[in-house]
Amino acid sequence: MECDLIITGGTVLTMTPGSEPLRDGAVAVRDGRIVAVAPATELIDLAPTTTLLDAGGGLIMPGFVNTHTHLAMTLLRGYADDYALQEWLSQHIWPAEKSLMRPETVALGTRLAVAECLRAGVTCVCDMYFFSQLIAEELAAAGLRAVVPESLIDFPTPSSPTPDDALRLARDLMERFREHPLIRPAIAPHAPYSVSAANLVKAAELADDFGTPFIIHLAETRAEVDGILKDKGVTPVAYLADLGILSERTVAAHCVHVSPDDIDILAELGVGVASNPVSNLKLASGVAPVPQMLAAGIKVGLGTDGAASNNTLDLLRDAQIAALLYKGVSGDPTCMPARQIVELLTIGGARVLGLGDRIGTLEPGKDADVICLGVNAPHATPLHDPYSHVAYAARAADVQHVLVRGRVVMQGRHLLTLDEADTLAQARHAAAAI
Ligand SMILES: [Zn+2]
Repeated sequence: MECDLIITGGTVLTMTPGSEPLRDGAVAVRDGRIVAVAPATELIDLAPTTTLLDAGGGLIMPGFVNTHTHLAMTLLRGYADDYALQEWLSQHIWPAEKSLMRPETVALGTRLAVAECLRAGVTCVCDMYFFSQLIAEELAAAGLRAVVPESLIDFPTPSSPTPDDALRLARDLMERFREHPLIRPAIAPHAPYSVSAANLVKAAELADDFGTPFIIHLAETRAEVDGILKDKGVTPVAYLADLGILSERTVAAHCVHVSPDDIDILAELGVGVASNPVSNLKLASGVAPVPQMLAAGIKVGLGTDGAASNNTLDLLRDAQIAALLYKGVSGDPTCMPARQIVELLTIGGARVLGLGDRIGTLEPGKDADVICLGVNAPHATPLHDPYSHVAYAARAADVQHVLVRGRVVMQGRHLLTLDEADTLAQARHAAAAI
C-alpha cells in the first residue's frame, strides 16, 4: 500500500455510524486523503517505510468543526462584555469595527484566530466577516479548512459602502475560490432584521447560482422574533421561508427562539443549524432547543460565535458546557449523551456546512482532517470511555497534533504554518489602537 503518513499509537474514533473505538488503531493518509483505517500492526506491515506520526497513546479522531464564528473579532475579545445583544452590537461592536477593521487588521485578527483554532483541535470553521478574499487567503496559507462568506448588511461595512458592493465582492470570491480544496466561498446576509427582503433574495440567488452556502443569523433573540412578528406578521423562520430563500445550503446561526412550526419548516427545507450555546448564554439570548431540533431530523452543529461574545474559540469547551446545559434545562440526565456531543463536534458540524461527504468522520476517501488528543494528564486519567472523555473531561490543551487535508499544521503543540509569537505581538499592538 502506498501512503505518505500513518497516524498511529492510539485509539481511533472514526465517528462513523455504529462504529466502536479501534484500540491500537491507525489512519493511513495519501495525497491529503484517508486511504485506510485499521489496526496499526496491519497498516505498518502493508507500508513499512512510511513516516509515522505517534499519537502517544491518546485518541485519534476527526477534527472539530466550528459552524459559526467571526474570526477577525478575536481583536475585540473582552472589549465589550455584559451588554444585551442590540446595545452590544449598535453601541459597542459596530463602532469599534468601524474604527479598527481595515484589511490588514482583519488579516491579523484572522491569523490570531487560526492559531487559537488549531490549538483547540478545530480543523474547519464557518466564518462570517468582511474582506472575505483576504480572509480566504490567510486561511488557505495557514492550512485551516473554512467556509468563507462575504457579509452583507443594509448599511456601509468596513469592506463595502453598499450591499451591492458586498454582493460584487461575494461573486468575485465565488469565482476565484469555487474549486479550492480548503476554502468554500459563500454569502452571509447578517440577519432578517438588518438586511432588506430585496437584498436577502439577491444574496440567495447568488448562492444558488454558485451552489454555495447561504449563512444568516436567525431567531437569535426574543426581541428579533417580536420585531419580525410585528413587521411581517410571521416568525423570522417563516418570513425567510416565505421569501423562498431557505434550503439545504442554508446555515442558520442560533435558532434559539424557534416555535414547533419553525422546527417543522427548518426540517422540511433541510436547513442546517449552527447552535452557539455559550454566546447565547453570555448575551442571555436563551437556550436553543437543540434536542428537539435533532429529534425533528434537523442537521445541527456547534459554533463558538465570535471571540467578542464568547470569549474564546475553544469549541470543545463550548460542547462540554452544551452537554450539561441540555441536561439541566430538560431535567433529563440521559438527554444528549456523550457520543452525541462528539458527533455534534465532528460529523454533525460537517453536515451543517455541506461537507459531510468530505470531512467529519475518519474513513477511506475522506479528507484527512485529523486530531490527536493526549490522555496522559491527571485530569485525563483513567480513560474508561473515549466519548465520555471528550464530552466531559478533555481540554483543548490536550490536543497534540492537527492535520488538515493530510498536512500536519500542529505537531507536539507547535504550530507549523504561522509565526505565533509574532501574531500575538501584532494583535496586542493593533488592539491597543481601538
Ligand atoms: Zn454570529
